[in-house]
Amino acid sequence: MPLEHGSLIDPNLLVSSVRQGYPWVGWGIGKGVTHLRNDISIFAVPKEQKSGLHSHLIQGFPNVDPPELCYKPNHIHGFDGFIRWIYLSHPHDAKQDVLGIDWGIGPRPTSGITTSVLSVAVLCQNVMRHGMSPKTRVALLDPNLSEITFNRSMIESHCLFTVQDWAQSASCVFHVRSLYCPRCGLKTFSSASYRFCYRCGADPNLVHKEVYHG
Ligand SMILES: [Zn+2]
Repeated sequence: MPLEHGSLIDPNLLVSSVRQGYPWVGWGIGKGVTHLRNDISIFAVPKEQKSGLHSHLIQGFPNVDPPELCYKPNHIHGFDGFIRWIYLSHPHDAKQDVLGIDWGIGPRPTSGITTSVLSVAVLCQNVMRHGMSPKTRVALLDPNLSEITFNRSMIESHCLFTVQDWAQSASCVFHVRSLYCPRCGLKTFSSASYRFCYRCGADPNLVHKEVYHG
């Protein structure tokens, strides 16, 4: 079924700094949210491109804020444990589809974005269990829907390319005694007894608690 105009990435709605050479112009876009700890994913294909749809998907669930408040840094409940993502559908070849996940280390864990590599891994476990193709490529996105290329060497060294790659990394790369930081993903622990990541300041035990227990 051909997608309607509003369901395609429209370059005119991108900020000018990313419009030039944007890789997903003309691709289909769907929007979804997945809870890190509850067994819930919600997916919608928009009829028109506008911001705020993610916040509407979670209305009615407990411990979430109304649409406008959700996105604010001083929110009360925010998105609770829901994470926002977009599904980018290649016009001709589903094998090239991309899962775009909102990412940022700074914001609060209730901001609706992944704030640690461990949360990306758990999100991928959940969306895969909910039916997304394991071979879907993962792209971490900034607020302008641009793929973040920092940590590229970390991502390549662990072969974290697809939903399945990320899903498996939760237990084999970013486990609580790993030498790799579960927040920034860098190899910052030379001994499992070290408590804090020297790059991002994370305490691995607290990151695991935050992701698995909220
Ligand atoms: Zn770190």
